[in-house]
Amino acid sequence: MAVPVSERERLSSALIVRNQLDVAADLVGLDDATRLLLKTPYRVVSVKVPVRMDDGRLEVFRGYRVQHSGARGPCKGGIRFHPEVDEEEVLGLATTMTWKTALLDIPFGGAKGGVQVAARRLSVRELEAVTRQFTRRIAIVLGPYRDIPAPDLNTNQQVMAWLLDEYSSRVGYTPAAVTGKPISLGGSLGREEATGRGVMYTMQEYAAHSGVPLEGSRVVIQGFGNVGANLAILLHELGAKIVAVSDVDGGRFNDKGLDIPKLFQHTYKERKSVSDFQDGTQITNEELWRVPCEWLVPAALGSVLSRERNAEFVDCKVVVEAANNATTPIGDKILEQRNITVLPDLLANAGGVVVSYFEWTQNLQQHPWPLEQVNAQLHTKMRTAFNAVRTIVEDKGVNWRVAALAIALERVSEAERLRGGY
Ligand code: NAD
Repeated sequence: MAVPVSERERLSSALIVRNQLDVAADLVGLDDATRLLLKTPYRVVSVKVPVRMDDGRLEVFRGYRVQHSGARGPCKGGIRFHPEVDEEEVLGLATTMTWKTALLDIPFGGAKGGVQVAARRLSVRELEAVTRQFTRRIAIVLGPYRDIPAPDLNTNQQVMAWLLDEYSSRVGYTPAAVTGKPISLGGSLGREEATGRGVMYTMQEYAAHSGVPLEGSRVVIQGFGNVGANLAILLHELGAKIVAVSDVDGGRFNDKGLDIPKLFQHTYKERKSVSDFQDGTQITNEELWRVPCEWLVPAALGSVLSRERNAEFVDCKVVVEAANNATTPIGDKILEQRNITVLPDLLANAGGVVVSYFEWTQNLQQHPWPLEQVNAQLHTKMRTAFNAVRTIVEDKGVNWRVAALAIALERVSEAERLRGGY
């Protein structure tokens, strides 16, 4: 069962990222003025999204687009539809995108958007209406050289297709204005599974350097959507045992390893719940955190690893943040004291935005790449970022998040300084 909002630790993702920034800023010696500059978003757009529902009622949802920084290139970041979306959450996620694009050294800044809506309860027509109304209201700040949306929680290729259509109907055919599109509308081969693939590359690199193997190891994944399901398939192919997974309705556990190809078909393709799957035993979302494993992968919501919920007892060697802002600052400290490595979101789940960048370049050049090229270049990007972070972890004795952020902060602050204008 999903954990109701009131019971979740309501630590805003903006607070999480502000807290993280100070630790890394100390490491690279950023002055106060630069810290203030980097903490402050460039633009915050808040809109109403009125939609005529199927039963004739008019609903008015809230929507947000936050552009945190465009110092290194156009703002870039996903759009999520979820009841917990608010301005603070979107701001925190937009900030993380700035660090992520800088760490991966792609020419983008950071943005995020969202509509506060229970997307799962919407019909397809209502989902399209929410997407189009939201796009109309934020279109003025979008564009291939301004701000480029992509999919995130509860948004997918179809949602990106509607977004593209709505945007292009204003300014003319502009495929580079949005990424994560269907292939037939200019999407990139490999984009759909790119985030999961990037998480897998990060785990492979860590396995090679840490002595925690992937093959034969036990993996637990919270969330079986785009990221979680695609990651599970790839890890299964590498010989890892996925012993437990969950989605919003509950989870399944099998200590011999779940039948991942069948589960993928059941959930990702046939859109059924993980808990209905006929393999292993049923577990609740809270029981998932108690399953012993080597690799624990949150791939659903933010703030899920916290003191209040589970950080004291999760039984793993590595936490891999496939979800953004998955660990709270205190959760982070507890995991560190317990010698559990946290591979942070800005490194681990960056594969999606890397292939979004490839998609954007393919659109601008009107020249699609073969899948092998996409995956090979993704691998190179992920490995380069991993090694840069690892070097700082080893040289400075800091954790992976601080090391990753330190690299990002130096790149973004340099771009801000060189551009000046204040
Ligand atoms: P998705 O909507 O495709 O899947 C989300 C999954 O999480 C679903 O299986 C859903 O049932 C599950 N879930 C939701 N609430 C849950 C709960 N309370 N307990 C357990 N499971 C729950 O979304 P996605 O694109 O896979 O994104 C997942 C996470 O990865 C998000 O944090 C997102 O920001 C992050 N992310 C996604 C991308 C991308 O390219 N899609 C890129 C980077 C980061």
